[in-house]
Formats: sequence, structure tokens, C-alpha cells
Amino acid sequence: MKKAGIMGGTFDPIHIGHMLLAQSALEQLQLDEVIFLPNGNPPHKKTQRDRAGELQRLEMTRLAVQDEPGFRVDDREIRPDLKDGEVVPAPAFHYSKDTIRQMALEHPEVQYYFIVGADSLMTFHHWVEPETISRYCILAAAVRDGETIDSMKEQAAFLKEKYGTRVVYLEIPPMDVSSTELRRMCSLGRSLRYLVPDRVWGYIRDNGLYREE
Ligand code: ATP
Repeated sequence: MKKAGIMGGTFDPIHIGHMLLAQSALEQLQLDEVIFLPNGNPPHKKTQRDRAGELQRLEMTRLAVQDEPGFRVDDREIRPDLKDGEVVPAPAFHYSKDTIRQMALEHPEVQYYFIVGADSLMTFHHWVEPETISRYCILAAAVRDGETIDSMKEQAAFLKEKYGTRVVYLEIPPMDVSSTELRRMCSLGRSLRYLVPDRVWGYIRDNGLYREE
């Protein structure tokens, strides 16, 4: 069976934490590829003035992955649609359970791993239909933000019991970087060089992103 990772995120902006997480999954789980899936406008991260637009997040994600043959972008949660010859924007947001089910049904020959940081593992039971996501993929979780492997294992046991969730673990060097912090730094005029891929930093500067507090 082929194996693919799904790296979902808001990517506002995409940063080295995301890249390292995806690279670790590719290597440690011996995946054929990692698919970056920029989210539409998730209900819990409503568009704010200091945020990039959806197509800008998509473009930054494309720039970030373009040199790595094992990475690609799937734009299905953001792509505008054509209806009666007219361009209609993508729905305001998608739920992961729908996207993952759609991908799994399209490619029954692939075992999907949904790649998450520890923070996402710890709140997974609040997602819509964790049981559906758990049916179609295995969670690949990495330690983040001081969350211990013991607390992650405790959460994994709870998820397995309640939703049949399968969890595997990824080892990554702890990286205290988040998109929120990077947007804040940028709004203060500080450089994001070395914290985001070079091309992404060029795009942020050229487009004047994250300037407003
Ligand atoms: P924000 O600060 O806007 O909430 P974020 O930096 O957490 O964003 P997301 O796009 O929401 O980034 O994250 C997508 C996925 O990547 C999540 O599962 C998250 O846990 C994981 N992730 C993000 N940054 C890191 C990091 N530094 N180390 C490990 N996992 C990370």
C-alpha cells in the first residue's frame, strides 16, 4: 500500500515548524509523499485584519514546497470553483473529516497519515466527527509546546477508546515557533528570515503582509 501524509494547516504564514514536521513524517514513516493542505477559513480562525488572504496563504505554501520532490500542495479547500462559467469562491470553510474522507475514497490504495503537532492531538476530540477522521487515517503526532510524550500517550489512549483513533509519534527537535508569533514579529518590522523558507519571506516582504497589528 502507498503511504501519504496530509499536512493540514492555516499556514499564515507557513514556517520552519511546519516544514520540519512534514520532513520528519516523510522520513520517519517512509511516506511516498506529504500533501500540504491549506485550510479554507476554519471557524476557529476567522479572517482578521492582520491575516493574509486565502490565495496568499496558498501561494506561500506553494513557494515553500516547490524544491522538495516529496512535497506537494492540494488546494481543494481554497480553490475557487467554476459554476455556470462564473468563478465562485470556495465555501467559507471545510471540515477535515469531509476532506479526508474525500481523499481516502478517491485513493483507496493509499494509507493516509494526518500529521499534527501535539496541540492538535490534545484538542482532537473537539474536532467535528473525530470518529470519521479516525476511520480514514492514522494520526502522526509530534511533540510541541512543552506537551510531554506521557500526556500525548494518555490522550491517544482516550481517543482510541472513544473513537478508534490510531496514533503514531514523530520525533522532532522542539521548535518554539508559531504563525501567530511570526505575524506579531512582522507587525513590529522584524525579519522572519530563517524562520520561514526564503521564498516565503520574499513574498511576505513584496506583498507587505502582516504589517498591521
Ligand atoms: P497559529 O499560530 O496561527 O495558530 P500554527 O503555527 O499553530 O498557527 P497551523 O497552521 O495552525 O500553525 O498548524 C498546522 C499544524 O502544524 C498543527 O497541527 C500544528 O500543531 C503544527 N505545528 C505548527 N507549528 C509547529 C511547531 N513549531 N512544532 C510542531 N508542530 C507545529
